[in-house]
Amino acid sequence: MLQTFDIATRTPYYIYDTELFARTIQTAKAEAACLPTAQIHFAVKSNSNIQLLYIAANEGLGADCVSGAEIEHCIACGIPAEKIVFAGVGKSDEEINIALDTGIGCFNVESVPELDVINELAAAKGKVAPISFRINPNVDAHTHANITTGLEENKFGIAMSDMVAVINHAKQLNNVHYLGLHFHIGSQILDMTCFRLLSQRINELQDQLEIAGINDTTSINVGGGLGIDYTNPELNPIPNFRDYFRVFADNLCLRPSQALHFELGRALSAQCGRLITKCLYVKTTATKQFAIVDAGMSDLLRPALYDAHHKIINLTGRKEQRPLHTYDVVGPICESSDVFDKNITLHEVRRGDMLAILSAGAYGFVMASQYNLRTLPQEVIT
Ligand SMILES: *Cc1c(COP(=O)(O)O)cnc(C)c1O
Repeated sequence: MLQTFDIATRTPYYIYDTELFARTIQTAKAEAACLPTAQIHFAVKSNSNIQLLYIAANEGLGADCVSGAEIEHCIACGIPAEKIVFAGVGKSDEEINIALDTGIGCFNVESVPELDVINELAAAKGKVAPISFRINPNVDAHTHANITTGLEENKFGIAMSDMVAVINHAKQLNNVHYLGLHFHIGSQILDMTCFRLLSQRINELQDQLEIAGINDTTSINVGGGLGIDYTNPELNPIPNFRDYFRVFADNLCLRPSQALHFELGRALSAQCGRLITKCLYVKTTATKQFAIVDAGMSDLLRPALYDAHHKIINLTGRKEQRPLHTYDVVGPICESSDVFDKNITLHEVRRGDMLAILSAGAYGFVMASQYNLRTLPQEVIT
């Protein structure tokens, strides 16, 4: 069911380029071929649009889910349960039961209390839950503080020093089956050094496991986090998957037949979406020109939440080749942080112009809210 691009669509709306999404996945798969046991899971929290999930399923990707609802949604979109991994520090009993009933491939367990609850709930169903442990590798992702997850001070994962004891504890339990280790150090990571350090840390941990007599680690999951080019998205629509997968191929010492899992979100979905918004007013003050648009932080939260920059284009002004001016592009919401960008150059903006906020396919619509009782933005497919 293809909806076509319709300029009369109520604004703001997200528009997704499914051809680019498919091509991005195909590029990632081709570059991952240097790792014979690699399996890519799409991090569905970055974008759970049904049409995109159909494509991901068609391309043979698995899914990385962080809620029971995401698991059910992915299965409904054709992703096989055994290709689904389930992460999160606070999995509810209800969500664990959904995961047990559907038969997902792996629970990425983040604490001992969670392990014990999974074991109990699996026992009640007469099942054995496949589990990996999310280990906090204390590797700095050098990214925004709100999206770094692999440092000791973060809430995520199990400390390296507890790893052996926790795995041995799991082996005492009858209703969990230990598969291996899981990591995820952060998001929007462009410095490949971070992934080299992660690989080296995983090598050390695998050595420690073997010294402790744990020789049945069959799965290593390195998470996601590969970044994209927010500055020049039109020049670089597909991230540098070659360098990314090469870092692991060159640095990670996998044991024979160990599966290697990736959980990529942003790198697959971000460049495939843009938020289209209409200019409501141009307001000039003593020092500034504001382009006030009809999209706000309720539609795209990243600039307000993470101080993120998305490239903005005045589609109408560019088409008409108008002169360039400097603007702050702001939304209509009663919050000072409802600003998309400041002091940026745009083709002259006039009321009624259509603006595009680029690279909005990841953590865009999925974070939209109805704050101020606004209507959720639409999603349109091309
Ligand atoms: C969010 C998340 C991902 C995906 O992160 P990206 O930066 O979008 O690639 C992968 N794994 C886990 C556990 C996550 O929480």
